[in-house]
Amino acid sequence: MAYCRKCGEIIDDEAVFCPKCGVQQNMVRTEREVNDDGSVLWAIIAFLIPVVGIILWAAWHDEKPKCSKMAAYGTIISLVVGAVAFIVTFVWLGSFHIHYGY
Ligand SMILES: [Zn+2]
Repeated sequence: MAYCRKCGEIIDDEAVFCPKCGVQQNMVRTEREVNDDGSVLWAIIAFLIPVVGIILWAAWHDEKPKCSKMAAYGTIISLVVGAVAFIVTFVWLGSFHIHYGY
């Protein structure tokens, strides 16, 4: 949430002009702006490449908490799916061995 720099009215963060007094707002937005949109894209990337997910999570932990969280989710889901696939493969191989009497 942002405040109008002239009249103090609560305005949208993205608002360029104050809806109440019409004063332009974008001059105060000079501080370093991070695009922390928490996009699902990062979860997908982390899911496909868990190592990248871990790197993104570590790199964005302070700067982009939402994106960092999405990368962490993707990494966790990827690891869980990987672990399940690993177990299923071994159970399947185990049943294969039992069936054929090895
Ligand atoms: Zn205003």
